[in-house]
Amino acid sequence: MLDDALARELGLDPDWLRGEDGVRLLVGALVPEGATPVAQAYAGHQFGGWSPRLGDGRALLLGEVEDPAGGLHDLHLKGSGRTPFSRGGDGLAAVGPMLRELLVSAAVHALGIPTTRALAVTATGRPVQRETVQRGAVLARVASSHLRVGTFQYAAASGDVDLTRRLADHAIARHHPAAAEREDRYRALLEAVIAAQASLVARWMLVGFVHGVMNTDNMTISGETIDYGPCAFLDAHDPATVFSSIDERGRYAYGNQPAVAEWDLARLAESLLPLLDDDQEQAVALAVESLGQFAPRYEEELTAGLRAKLGLEAAGDGPAVAAVVAEALPLLAATRADHTGFFRRLADAARGDEEPVRALVEDPSALDGWLGRWRALAPDAAAMDRVNPCYVPRNHLVEEALTAATLGDLDPLHRLLEVVTDPFVERPGRERYAEPAPEGFGRYRTFCGT
Ligand code: AMP
Ligand code: MG
Ligand code: MG
Repeated sequence: MLDDALARELGLDPDWLRGEDGVRLLVGALVPEGATPVAQAYAGHQFGGWSPRLGDGRALLLGEVEDPAGGLHDLHLKGSGRTPFSRGGDGLAAVGPMLRELLVSAAVHALGIPTTRALAVTATGRPVQRETVQRGAVLARVASSHLRVGTFQYAAASGDVDLTRRLADHAIARHHPAAAEREDRYRALLEAVIAAQASLVARWMLVGFVHGVMNTDNMTISGETIDYGPCAFLDAHDPATVFSSIDERGRYAYGNQPAVAEWDLARLAESLLPLLDDDQEQAVALAVESLGQFAPRYEEELTAGLRAKLGLEAAGDGPAVAAVVAEALPLLAATRADHTGFFRRLADAARGDEEPVRALVEDPSALDGWLGRWRALAPDAAAMDRVNPCYVPRNHLVEEALTAATLGDLDPLHRLLEVVTDPFVERPGRERYAEPAPEGFGRYRTFCGT
């Protein structure tokens, strides 16, 4: 499967990519002239535990692609075979999880959230041993870069301060050029990453996205979402929601994401300490002060996003607006309303029909007071429709599409992609794509590194 629109954005010809050389490029059998593929080293904290050497164990950075506007993008292959970082792994990927990454990352992009993207998933014909034998595939991933917090941790752990400095200079040039204008450019870099991640996590929270494996090696310096292993979208809104089969303690639960992002950013700050000040005590004080910017920035982004979702952008800054906005997510949690459906159907209520949103909760009377106060603020229904998606890749639909795809039928996947990549436009006849999972679907479980 190939994302033709993304290929064109990159200045690549989709027909060429579908041809023999193109396919060889997409599985790593053809290296473009002048390119030197590399497996990148990185370290990281996984579930809080330190791993000094992770790295691309089943991936290769083919090189950079310059798009027609001059923008640079990493072209990265995932599932392309063993590397010096493979440890016990086979370096391979199965077609199901790679299509999952393609689907969910396309949806996240369509929701306007920064993310790495999937150019193509190419079946290799090679069997991959997991719990059962599966068909192998290579994902061609596009990112503004693959620099991670874990990349900085790796450099810092080497003890070579000059290496960390060169890495930081590269990150500034590539992602946060405004930092170069400040005298304390490395602290400016730290603050730029803090701001980018605060904004990213706020956007995840607004759409009910659970990343699922926010290890420091899965947090980018660019502020793009990366690593679509165990991620999933909420149906019923519950801050304690965990989908990942290995997240037994709920470290990466939906409601924990802002706190855990801050924790990861503290690891970035630690890695940068030698660059912040010669006096390390002073460096720590500066880092702590910068990290203090995360919470207010996150709250600001979340509140602004909620105001937009509630159609209240033009409603002023009065205490009534502030109260309605602050109470929205707690109300969803208390009623366990379907996250996506609640905001979408709220626009019906703004137009005068409360029935659809009331139908989403078990005890509609729980909505009474809040709905009345919110409606009194004259929410803008048309504006709400532009920011509240009708379609996200709901878990039961993802499973249905991937099950069919692994059996050779790509139609359900194409149909799901069609709605989630144009998520704000409601389509008659596609109601089931907007509905929560049926009762019998049960608790959803996702897996890393498959
Ligand atoms: P993740 O949990 O996806 O962030 O991956 C953590 C680490 O495991 C990374 O270093 C991956 O490259 C590595 N890894 C995951 N799956 C495999 C595999 N099948 N073979 C080799 N390395 C792998
Ligand atoms: Mg990863
Ligand atoms: Mg992964």
